[in-house]
Amino acid sequence: MIRTDTPQTIRLTDYRAPGYLINHVSLNVRLNREATRITARLDLLPNPASPDAGGPLVLDGQGLRLEAINIDGVPLTEDQYSLDNEHLTIHKLPQRAVCIETETTVDPSANKALSGLYLSNGVYCTQCEAEGFRRIAFFLDRPDVLSRYRVRLEARKSEAPQLLSNGNLVMAGDIVGSDRHFAIWEDPHLKPSYLFAMVAGDLACVEDSFTTRSGRKVLLQIYVEHGKEERCGWAMTSLKAAMKWDEERFGREYDLDRFMIVAVSDFNMGAMENKGLNIFNDKYVLASPDSATDQDYAHIESVIAHEYFHNWTGNRITCRDWFQLCLKEGLTVYRDQEFSSDIRSRPVKRISDVKLLRAQQFAEDAGPLAHPVRPSSYMEINNFYTATVYEKGAEVVRMLATLLGEEGFRKAMDIYFARHDGDAATVEDFVKCMEDASGRDLSQFFHWYEQAGTPQVMAQSRWLQSEGVFELTLTQSLAPTPGQPTKPDLDIPLAMGLVGPVGEDMPLDLEGTGVLNNPVIELREAVQVFRFRNVRQRPVPSLNRGFSAPVRLVSNFSAADEVALMGRDSDPFNRWEMAQNRASEIITRAIAAPDHAVSADLARGYGEALKRVLADNGLEDAFKALMAMLPGEQDLARELGSNVDPAAIHAARDALRRALGTQLEAELQRIWEALPTGGAYSPDPASAGRRSLGHAALDLLIAGDAASGAQLALGHFHAATNMTDKMGALNVLARIDCPQREEALSAFYDSHRSDPLLVDKWMTLNAVAPFEGAIARVRELMQHELFDITRPNRVRALIGSFAAMNPVQFNAPSGEGYELVAGVIEKLDGFNPQVAARLATNYRSWRALEPGRRAKAHDTLTRLRDRANVSRDTFEIISKSLEG
Ligand SMILES: [Zn+2]
Repeated sequence: MIRTDTPQTIRLTDYRAPGYLINHVSLNVRLNREATRITARLDLLPNPASPDAGGPLVLDGQGLRLEAINIDGVPLTEDQYSLDNEHLTIHKLPQRAVCIETETTVDPSANKALSGLYLSNGVYCTQCEAEGFRRIAFFLDRPDVLSRYRVRLEARKSEAPQLLSNGNLVMAGDIVGSDRHFAIWEDPHLKPSYLFAMVAGDLACVEDSFTTRSGRKVLLQIYVEHGKEERCGWAMTSLKAAMKWDEERFGREYDLDRFMIVAVSDFNMGAMENKGLNIFNDKYVLASPDSATDQDYAHIESVIAHEYFHNWTGNRITCRDWFQLCLKEGLTVYRDQEFSSDIRSRPVKRISDVKLLRAQQFAEDAGPLAHPVRPSSYMEINNFYTATVYEKGAEVVRMLATLLGEEGFRKAMDIYFARHDGDAATVEDFVKCMEDASGRDLSQFFHWYEQAGTPQVMAQSRWLQSEGVFELTLTQSLAPTPGQPTKPDLDIPLAMGLVGPVGEDMPLDLEGTGVLNNPVIELREAVQVFRFRNVRQRPVPSLNRGFSAPVRLVSNFSAADEVALMGRDSDPFNRWEMAQNRASEIITRAIAAPDHAVSADLARGYGEALKRVLADNGLEDAFKALMAMLPGEQDLARELGSNVDPAAIHAARDALRRALGTQLEAELQRIWEALPTGGAYSPDPASAGRRSLGHAALDLLIAGDAASGAQLALGHFHAATNMTDKMGALNVLARIDCPQREEALSAFYDSHRSDPLLVDKWMTLNAVAPFEGAIARVRELMQHELFDITRPNRVRALIGSFAAMNPVQFNAPSGEGYELVAGVIEKLDGFNPQVAARLATNYRSWRALEPGRRAKAHDTLTRLRDRANVSRDTFEIISKSLEG
């Protein structure tokens, strides 16, 4: 896709119902590597609800060669239609039901954009969200056109023994007198074109079954490359757990006889929820103890669940237009987060999710690419599969659940499923169900969908001892973001507690309301004072418990209060939050200090508090591991907000790590020695927690004493009997310049060079070294025989990780890091603009940098934007980055 003029902006306010509807689609696909022939019969009729009914019919189509076209069997003459790069326009249609048949050819082997029909390792597969179906057939390729599909696939038997599409298999057989065979699939459910999928290839299949609570026996199949069947067990376990959970928690059952997952190695996204035929990046399917880490296991579980949950939130109820993307994504992320919380540790899951939200979404919200959860305009929809739509979208749903309470929220969801099944719905439809279930007016709340930016809540408190009143003054503000200079106040639900001297929660007796059963207050005005009565002892306020609202909280609370909460808040999230606050403060001071040294006193106080946490036998290991990790370098950069020097942040953070590693050496050693080695591997949360705590201890030990720590890590690497332990050692070694690092990395490569997912891990380990030489190493690896720029996983592993996980070297003062990534973006943009544009978002925080780096980043971005053939995708990201 080449840009020939300035890309057009598409706006939510311009939405118009489609002039025509397509009730039924019949596809006949004769697969061939260079020339696949597709006959599409569309049963079409004017849409009485649209002002455009009766007008010309404009079908979307890209990269298609039109071989034939007829209406009701009569071929069209050339003056009856016109064709350009993006559309097929039929000037006049009879105003009744008609059947339009087109015959087109496409070349899957040449499709490196991985949108539409393409080949991944010799397997035919498709990706149609958001606008890929138009690369398969001329169509009204928009989510509000819902149709029933019948698909006939045909291919050479030897090339593609499996022929798969959505729905149920109705017929299959050989084509007599040829080496070809066919399969016919019918999907009884209405769906938009973006949920269409087909797969054909020589794949192995692992089968199981699931019986729904109403007794439907569902065949479960996972298709993978031959030889990888052994690695599908965990994905299958996760799928069955997800199916059961959705029945229990949301009353949702599966609705077809078969559910299929296909793992492919070349995929632009993580996975895709096509009806009955999910297609996955194999990284989110394949797992075995010697190839996947605990984290990989948890990701697979959550992505499998996420795509499955879409069957109701996304497929049965889809989006009216792409502006409503959060309707399916935010809601489904919320559902997968709840699933993981229910089957794993809720506090640990919540903290991990908030870490991700801050690292990705808060960063997005603070820069030039900030946009609302429901954007009001876009140039290229593929650029809006963002942390804001997904992660902040999930936070907005979580706030609704907090406001409505568990029962109220379930009732609202039941209304949503009943009212909108089979619909292409809007965010307004969803929120209306929340209002109808609760009787609440959510019009103020609705601003969360429309306003970009992370709100700041300022909290000031005082205890009026003689009156026994605790007074909390909250002030909300929201800084301007691109296109939104001023914004109305939000409805912010804040879960809270007043913590007494031994950690007990005092009753919340709110003046004007009474004792709160549900300890949540709502901040709805710019400034609001909350007075709590009968507070006889000085409390420590614990605000925004569980991160009930995605805001930045600043307060006048003292360091001593923060340390107190770190040790005894009944809300585990806030214990972690207070630890992060304290650490940020200490590191921020060190950043400003001449040699980036930390204050010994502050570090000691923090170390003592951390020591008590680590010694507390009542806490989960995974939680302790999170407590032992300092805020990330990008988190610190975001908090600083301007004049950022990534090298100074790295040095200051390292200084605190070093101080803690030295001070807590004995405790850390004890934890380290308790980490079991050898023995059978199990990915269960308790075992995974033990390992993560051990590796967090190793990280601090190595900071305290690099030489002996590196030796420990190397020993751990060699002794490891599972991938989690191997990576635990490598993750710390990769970030220090020592001979043990080289030894471990080359040993890893020698053992795993034939496994693509492990080569990806190895590439990433090379890319994250924060010291001199990293850029040269990445350049060298781009010439490596195993680097292939057409494979998105490989590009993300090496280049994406360098840009996103190595702030020191990506932001090297010379500008070389920016140039390296820009070079890859330029190359990629010619054939895979989606992945190129995604890579370009790594420059989003450039304005917050100190002047030297800022100037270099600006030069690189300007050059990228002004290239002759920049794609629409990349142009949008870069031009917005420069303007914002
Ligand atoms: Zn999704």
